[in-house]
Amino acid sequence: MSRNDHFICPTCHIGHLDLRLTTYVQQFGETLISVPNTPAWVCDVCHDRQFDTASIQRIELLVGQAGPPPNRYRPAQERKISRPAETAGKVAAKARAKAKE
Ligand SMILES: [Zn+2]
Repeated sequence: MSRNDHFICPTCHIGHLDLRLTTYVQQFGETLISVPNTPAWVCDVCHDRQFDTASIQRIELLVGQAGPPPNRYRPAQERKISRPAETAGKVAAKARAKAKE
C-alpha cells in the first residue's frame, strides 16, 4: 500500500490519515459517554482524529432514542441496605417457632 492511498491531514497538511479504531468520548448533558472501537481517521503526525460520520450518526441515534444515559454515581452514604422480603419472612417464622417452644 503506497502513501498515495491515504488522505493528507487537513489540520497539519503533512501527515496522512489512516482508518483506525479509537475511543469516541462525548458529553451528553451531565453524562460522559465513552464508545470504544469507533472507526476514525487518525493523522500519523499530529494525531488529529476525524470520526467516521456514519458511526457518529449511529451513536447519536442510539443516545437520542434512549435519552442521555443516567449518571449512576451515588455517594456511599445515600445507599440504604434493605433486607429482601423473603429473608425477612423467614426470620419472622423462626421467631414465631421460638416463641412456641
Ligand atoms: Zn495531521
